[in-house]
Amino acid sequence: MVRISATKCFLLCITMSLCIYFIFRCDPNPQNAARSENVENNLNPKFQPVQNMDEEREVKHTINDISDWHPHTLAVIVPFRDRFEELMEFAPWIHTFLNNQKIPHKIVVVNQIDSHRFNRASLINIGFLKTRDECDYLVMHDVDLLPNNAELLYHFPEKGPYHLASPEYHPMYHYKTYIGGVLMMTIKHFQMCRGLSNTFWGWGREDDELYLRFRENSLTLYRPTGLRTGYETFKHIHDKERRPRDYKRYGEQKKTQFQRDKTTGYDTLRYTLESERVLTIDEAPVHVYNVELFCDKTKTPWCDHSR
Ligand code: UDP
Ligand code: MN
Repeated sequence: MVRISATKCFLLCITMSLCIYFIFRCDPNPQNAARSENVENNLNPKFQPVQNMDEEREVKHTINDISDWHPHTLAVIVPFRDRFEELMEFAPWIHTFLNNQKIPHKIVVVNQIDSHRFNRASLINIGFLKTRDECDYLVMHDVDLLPNNAELLYHFPEKGPYHLASPEYHPMYHYKTYIGGVLMMTIKHFQMCRGLSNTFWGWGREDDELYLRFRENSLTLYRPTGLRTGYETFKHIHDKERRPRDYKRYGEQKKTQFQRDKTTGYDTLRYTLESERVLTIDEAPVHVYNVELFCDKTKTPWCDHSR
């Protein structure tokens, strides 16, 4: 039989109580701590002030969390009008997806509230103007495309534009020069192109025009490869009966839709910011800009449907 003196027994109890106290006091999953900081801040956790760090252990814990987050901040720019249900699904989905990759991000919905035809490119240009000072890269992201493969990386596209919804993986568009749906660019490369043309009203072709801007600026396009999820790499939550596309083409638009627009870009855009809101959808903070686009009818008379 092993005999323990009363003093030894007392010391043993104290040591065990201290151990139990420290085990329960620490967050069992350090990633959770980093995530919740990021949610509150919306931006890169490196900007989080370090407060009340009176214990060395806690300071180390925070520094570790910060250092394994991606060093760049991504603006997720969503061109938007009348897609409430899709946004309810998209915002929490992309927020979780990017948090899993430890990408500091800000979700920005640019909501077109005027009565002109939808202008995806101009809304993306506004998203750029609103985020360029706080983010160093952006992804123009359709609200109805949900990344469905964890190997799709939303990392900083240093070398050139990175087309995530590539023709090899997009559920619907498979032509070689397609760059729509989900496309990432650094702020620098976006500036080189002057963003997108503002002359496209109605569905489509603004992305094809951006492709011509890449070529003109000698920007190399990159895409993911080797994914095994094929056309299911993204979920396309698009009900074509409820969300019909505005394919109509009027007059000159039939011709200009295939041409490079040398005159317009984010620097020529005219719009009014009617209001600004921050919503939280589940855990996801969403910045909404309600905007009215200006249409110069002498230049793009097709911005409204003819009666
Ligand atoms: N969009 C929108 N409201 C519209 C038309 C388009 O919000 O009335 C946005 C939305 O983000 C959508 C994207 O523009 O995902 C592309 O439009 P759509 O899905 O109709 O085109 P597709 O790529 O499916 O042909
Ligand atoms: Mn769609």
